[in-house]
Amino acid sequence: MLDIQAIRNDFPILTQTVNGKPLVYFDNAATSQKPQVVIDAISNYYGTINANIHRGVHTLSQLATDAYEQSRQKIQTHLNAKHNYEVLFTAGTTHGINLVAHGFAAFVKAGDEVMVSAMEHHSNIVPWQMLCERTGAKLTVIPMNEKGELIIEEFEKLLTEKTKIVAVNHISNSLGTINPIEHIIKKAHEVGAAVLIDGAQAAPHLKIDVQALDCDFYTFSGHKTCGPTGSGVLYGKEEWLEKLPPYQGGGEMIKEVTFEKTTYAGLPHKFEAGTPHIEGGIVLGTAIDYLNSIGLDNIMAYENELLRYGNEKLQEIEGIRFIGTATKKTSVISFNVGEIHPYDIGAIVDKMGIAVRTGHHCTQPVMNFFNVPGTVRASFAFYNTKEEIDALVLAVLKAQRMLG
Ligand code: PMP
Repeated sequence: MLDIQAIRNDFPILTQTVNGKPLVYFDNAATSQKPQVVIDAISNYYGTINANIHRGVHTLSQLATDAYEQSRQKIQTHLNAKHNYEVLFTAGTTHGINLVAHGFAAFVKAGDEVMVSAMEHHSNIVPWQMLCERTGAKLTVIPMNEKGELIIEEFEKLLTEKTKIVAVNHISNSLGTINPIEHIIKKAHEVGAAVLIDGAQAAPHLKIDVQALDCDFYTFSGHKTCGPTGSGVLYGKEEWLEKLPPYQGGGEMIKEVTFEKTTYAGLPHKFEAGTPHIEGGIVLGTAIDYLNSIGLDNIMAYENELLRYGNEKLQEIEGIRFIGTATKKTSVISFNVGEIHPYDIGAIVDKMGIAVRTGHHCTQPVMNFFNVPGTVRASFAFYNTKEEIDALVLAVLKAQRMLG
């Protein structure tokens, strides 16, 4: 059993009032809040070892380099990657996907296919469309059903020898669906396609084992996993990272530069041009330690309980329509109430101190599929409580009375 009050004490932001009411933060799928250890680690880095890494002979530079590389190792262990150089530091999920989609032009030609799913975040659609525009490849889309689950028979039909890469999310940010990525990876490999998993919404909730999954790429954002914004990870299998061309050119990523020719550094530096977000990389390690100190299994079990409770309580609201009712879900509840615009509900509950997301959640195709302009999205984290869910229900009822 988690001691939620003790956990809440780790998050200074949660003690605030917003619009005169205790803050209820239900926008965790957009970004998570940060525990004091993470806030302190940021300040400690700048207060003690701030220096540029990898090329300095002086002590501070070595300390910063060690901390950065130790964090990489920590993340390697956390993801169960085979090698530490398979863990690339990025600015976040969007960066990770663009890095792969950009380089993948080397392996895709006109007439080939690149597959995404109907429930992708725009950041796992647009980079692949750009790849298709550059190469003449075709984008194919795994459809979903009315519950917001991928239709696996259709996926298997769409998959052919022409499919060069399948890019799907582990968990949908607007629906909460947990996708059967093990099966998708296995089937895609049978036709020789690579698989990229967008783990932005999974990393804060699930234990990920990239070797057991056998995915070729797995990417997530630090800021959704209690870490700093602008930090993130792209895991790539060594064989893929070796053959994938670099994304950006510059310092750090080279072996030798002459005006005639440049040779590239080995992994992971080939993909880490320029001065990185040093503090972000180091503190992401602190955030991962923090999550592991609570235990992702405990986090998942508690959040499932919040999801169950939230569904039950919100159900009491007349005219509520849930968008995304998959059998396997994480703690995201997307809904609309009657004909009320989601933005109006969001604005009214904010007056009561409750932060929810409204809009299309960067998944316009999902909104089009369900024929809604957007949804109200409450997304829970392990520091939320049932009492906060009660407050949300009361606030939505109030909004309904005012607007209905
Ligand atoms: N994919 C999914 C499923 C997401 O939820 C998000 C963030 N909302 C992203 C990708 C993009 O992440 P970031 O903005 O941190 O790069």
